Amino acid sequence: MNLVYALAVIGVLWLIFGVFYLIRHVSFSRKCPHCGEAHPDRVPRSALAKTLAVVMTVKAYRCNNCSTQFIKIGDTD
Ligand SMILES: [Zn+2]
Repeated sequence: MNLVYALAVIGVLWLIFGVFYLIRHVSFSRKCPHCGEAHPDRVPRSALAKTLAVVMTVKAYRCNNCSTQFIKIGDTD
């Protein structure tokens, strides 16, 4: 019973971590999701971003201001 409880707690913590990760590292415009910088540099896509690119347009960027790396999903600018 304790093992089930521990696994549930770990699962919930991973979900919370995942939501915060997505908020900080995924954007639908070229603006940095962390600080709002509008002119980030293009960088090579990660393996995960390349996998996502099979089904949607995905570009990877690195913010000049705060160095956050994020991916932009979609064609809009
Ligand atoms: Zn930034």
